[in-house]
Amino acid sequence: MKVTDCFKQADKTLFTFELLPPLKGDNIESIYNIIEPLLEFNPAYINVTYHREEVVYKTREAGLLEKKIVRKRPGTVGITAAIKFKYKIEVIPHIICGGFNREETENALIDLHFLGIHNLLVLRGDTMKSERYFIPEPDGHKYALDLVKQVLEMNHGKYIDEEIENNAPTNFTVGVAGYPEKHIESPNLESDLFYLKQKVDAGAEYIVTQMFFDNSRYFRFVRQCREAGIHVPIIPGLKLITTKKQLSILPQTFNIDLPNELAKEVSKCNTNSEVQQLGVEWATAQAKELIDHGVPALHFFTMGKSDNVRKVCESVF
Ligand code: FAD
Repeated sequence: MKVTDCFKQADKTLFTFELLPPLKGDNIESIYNIIEPLLEFNPAYINVTYHREEVVYKTREAGLLEKKIVRKRPGTVGITAAIKFKYKIEVIPHIICGGFNREETENALIDLHFLGIHNLLVLRGDTMKSERYFIPEPDGHKYALDLVKQVLEMNHGKYIDEEIENNAPTNFTVGVAGYPEKHIESPNLESDLFYLKQKVDAGAEYIVTQMFFDNSRYFRFVRQCREAGIHVPIIPGLKLITTKKQLSILPQTFNIDLPNELAKEVSKCNTNSEVQQLGVEWATAQAKELIDHGVPALHFFTMGKSDNVRKVCESVF
């Protein structure tokens, strides 16, 4: 089903969550072990992230370093199909620009189309850890907007090679990312909203937000989007805080603020299990308020663990 039809047909806030593919060498069972504790809360769909390659340095004899390019979490397309067919649940793979040229992207989209996977979250993708700025592949896309356009051209039967004989149209529904506290590289929120609107004007039908810990940031963002002429559903993204270190890592990585009240309480915790308990309580309060405001769905970033998300679901779904 088109994910946007899920939103239209629902008479209450839907539960959705996001998974990371396992590290290379791990088994698909590790993914099922995350999903199964959450099934009783009837997820409307499950997202599977996409991870580009990374540069790693291996120490060799005589202290020499060997530079290697590795993709640590491959398997997004396969995992998406495996979950869809095992649990009969809608699954949304993330598709990214980073590390792919247009033809590789087209081939991945053809695979997804043949597998009957028609909902996508389309992103630029993270900058490589070893690079300061995002560098597209030769003949790859620089911005998510360009990837949105490629997907939607395929929906009109337009493939890269104009001379192919059959031009079967695909039928992808495209979602994109939005940032209530501004994308880290954006000079200001207005500029970020300008480019977000371009993605929606190009045909993106819903937005999933970056995590936030202060609901007022989300409500303000939705207002600003509406004022800017962006009228598609905006799905709030929620992450549960689990360690003390995240007090500095999350703002640094995601350009988000942690409210002072939360930061102070986390600082007082003596163990990470105390932090996790606090994280569950904070996310539960956030979820309840968002549901009261009638948001279409809650999107949980599981980061490979479902036990704490399950505790939130027990209170709100
Ligand atoms: P874009 O929309 O391309 O925007 C990137 C920046 O460029 C923004 O600052 C924007 O304002 C600016 N911009 C856009 N268009 C233009 C233009 N024409 N000219 C100048 N500036 C422009 N990353 C992964 O690698 N894999 C994942 O699976 C993944 N999943 C995610 C899921 C969610 C819900 C979210 C919120 C993020 C996810 N990310 C993922 C992270 C995302 O890839 C990064 O945040 C990335 O830096 C930006 O992606 P984007 O799609 O928002 O990019």
